[in-house]
Amino acid sequence: MVQVNGNYLKLKAGYLFPEIGRRVKAFSEANPTAPIIRLGIGDVTEPLPEACRTAMKGAIDEMGTREGFHGYGPEQGYPWLREAIAKTDFQTRGCEVSAEEIFVSDGSKCDSSNILDILGEGNRIAVTDPVYPVYVDSNVMAGRTGDADDAGQYGGLTYLPITASNGFTAPLPEGKVDLIYLCFPNNPTGAVATKAQLKQWVDYALANDALILFDAAYEAFIQDPELPHSIYEIEGARQCAIEFRSFSKNAGFTGTRCALTVVPKGLMGTAANGEKVELWALWNRRQCTKFNGVSYIVQRGAEAVYSIAGQAQVKSLVSFYMENAAIIRQELTAAGLIVYGGEQAPYVWIQTPEGLDSWGFFDHLLGNAHVVGTPGSGFGAAGEGYFRLSAFNSRANVEEAMRRIRSL
Ligand SMILES: *Cc1c(COP(=O)(O)O)cnc(C)c1O
Repeated sequence: MVQVNGNYLKLKAGYLFPEIGRRVKAFSEANPTAPIIRLGIGDVTEPLPEACRTAMKGAIDEMGTREGFHGYGPEQGYPWLREAIAKTDFQTRGCEVSAEEIFVSDGSKCDSSNILDILGEGNRIAVTDPVYPVYVDSNVMAGRTGDADDAGQYGGLTYLPITASNGFTAPLPEGKVDLIYLCFPNNPTGAVATKAQLKQWVDYALANDALILFDAAYEAFIQDPELPHSIYEIEGARQCAIEFRSFSKNAGFTGTRCALTVVPKGLMGTAANGEKVELWALWNRRQCTKFNGVSYIVQRGAEAVYSIAGQAQVKSLVSFYMENAAIIRQELTAAGLIVYGGEQAPYVWIQTPEGLDSWGFFDHLLGNAHVVGTPGSGFGAAGEGYFRLSAFNSRANVEEAMRRIRSL
C-alpha cells in the first residue's frame, strides 16, 4: 500500500473552524428559528470594486478574439501588474522594491506555505502565539516540527506570546532562531507594529542571520499615517525579509484569488556546504516548476486596483469595514468588555469576561446573542481568555449583533 506523509498525522485534531461549525450546527438544529449572525471567519462580504469588474469583463472579451487571446502567462505574473505593484505599493512609500522582485500568485495562504519548499529542514522557527494557523500547520506538514503537546504546541517551534501584558507586540526570542513569521496588522489580535518595533526585528534578523517572513495582508487597513505598511520601510529589511501581500482583504479578492510575494534580489540563504545562495533564484525556480501563473483575467482585475477609480473604490471598501470595527469597539466597550485591535485592522480582540474562557464566551454569545465569533484559544495557547470578532460583515448585521450583545 502507498505510504502517506506521516507529518500530516501530527496535525492536531479538532481544528478551530470545524469545531465552530459543529457547535453552530448543533445550536441551530436545537433552535431552528434563531437568526445567527456570523462575525467569525475572516472572509470579506462586500461586492468586488467596479473598476476590477470592468477590467475583468474587458479581459474576458479580449480572450474571445484571436489577437487578444492569452494562453500561459509568465509564471511570475505579467510585467504591467508587477510594475503597478512595485510603483504604487512600494516605491511611493520609499521602499526599494522593483517589479522583478514581485511574484504574482493565487494567494498569500499558498505562498506563505509554499515558501518552505526553498528553506532547509534544520531551521529554528519562531511564531507568535496566538498565530495565523497556516504558518504552524504548513511547517508541521513539511516535517519541520516535532509532535504536539497537550497544550497543542509543536516540538521544535519557538512560540512568542503576544498578550495584553506586552501590548500585543511579539517579544524578541531569547535564543537564536533562523526563521520568523510576523503578521502586522495582525490576524487575530488586530495589533499593529510601529517602525521602531519592526526595526528591532530587522536588527535581530541581521544580527542572527535570520529570515523574516512578513505577512502584510492587512496593510490597507492601517489608518495612522506614521505606521509602516511594508517591512521594506525599515532599513536593512531587504537583506533579511520576504513580504507577502494579497488582494483578498483590500479589494475583496478572497474568491477571485490574487496575491504577491516580494523576494528582494541579493537576499541570501546558506547551503549545507556553507555557500551563500540567492533566495530569489530559488523561489523563481520553484514557481516556474510548480506554478503556471494567475489567470490573465484576474491579473487585469488586480491591475485595476491601481487605477485612480480602483484606488478610490478600495479606499471606500476599507473605510466601510473600519467603520464596522469602530462600531464593534464602541458597543463592546459600552457593554463593559475590554477590547483591543480594530483601529488599524479589521479584527477586534476581546478579553473574555471574568469566569469565561474563550470557548465559554463562544457558547455564551452563540446561545444568548446568536452571534458567532472565534475563540482566541483556537489561534494558540496564549489566545486563551480572548475572543476575535471580525469587521467583515454588512452594517446591518454588525449593528444587530452589537444590539444583541449590549442587551445581554
Ligand atoms: C486572509 C489572510 C491572508 C490572505 O490569504 P489569501 O490566500 O491571499 O486569500 C494572508 N494572511 C493572513 C494572516 C490572512 O488573514
